[in-house]
Amino acid sequence: MEEIPLWYSLAVFFVLGACVGSFYNVIVYRMPRGISLINPPSHCPLCKKHIPLYYNLPIIGWIILRGKSACCKQPISIIYPIGESLCGLLGVLALYAATGFTTNFTAPVQSLEVWADALALFWLLLGIYPVSAVDFKYKLIPDSISVGGIVAGLIISFIPGGMTPVESIVGAVAAGGGLYLLGWVATKVLNKAAMGFGDVKLLAGFGAIMGVTRAVEVLVVASILGILIMVPYAKIAESRAAKKASQNKKASGDEEAEDEGAGQIPFGPFLAVAAPFMYLWGDALKELYFKFVLGE
Ligand SMILES: [Zn+2]
Repeated sequence: MEEIPLWYSLAVFFVLGACVGSFYNVIVYRMPRGISLINPPSHCPLCKKHIPLYYNLPIIGWIILRGKSACCKQPISIIYPIGESLCGLLGVLALYAATGFTTNFTAPVQSLEVWADALALFWLLLGIYPVSAVDFKYKLIPDSISVGGIVAGLIISFIPGGMTPVESIVGAVAAGGGLYLLGWVATKVLNKAAMGFGDVKLLAGFGAIMGVTRAVEVLVVASILGILIMVPYAKIAESRAAKKASQNKKASGDEEAEDEGAGQIPFGPFLAVAAPFMYLWGDALKELYFKFVLGE
């Protein structure tokens, strides 16, 4: 790692991000159709022919094929390579932000702390999409990201320079436990379920990755974002649902399910967005807050 210039490492992070994006494409296609993620191996959804590995390469496969499947020449949506490219760019951002946006692209990244930061940011940035998409659609947070975050945080903490493994474990327990208690109290006071256990596990993961203080800050910022964005949104959705119900009583099953969830506010997306933001700019945001709000 001592000889590898930054630009090369950034390219590797782009490829890693694009591969994650390619995996997301597979999940998005297969999960709602009830197809296993591993079996059957990659096949054309139209003519069922097996797709060779090189056509499955993220972005490049689509370019080689010029957007048409090799087997039956059916168009492949440009959404796939675009999604993969965006995930690749998030991968680049993870490492580049961890270096503090240095302009020296030929120098190698030597600090182990920078690598630990890059991996943590990679996890947080690429977690935004699955958490948001699944929480909006199914009102739950995938364990692979929430519980996976606890595992990822603990593994990263073994890289010297950043958080220690003990800090990581304390972060997970304190952040998750704290939010669980908060939800328990709110449930007693409001007399209805106030917090999903998925949110608790997700925040525990953030605690493991960035420590308890940062995780609490994520919770605060996510709550403010949630109130600012979702309260007006929920009002609009509610009035629209009421209008629809009075206009048209014969709604299809899908629409009924949507209307049911109209008043419910998914919190996961706000936590997921706030986490990498606070990881990067938490200190700068606190400084601004002390300067302008408290006038210090
Ligand atoms: Zn085909």
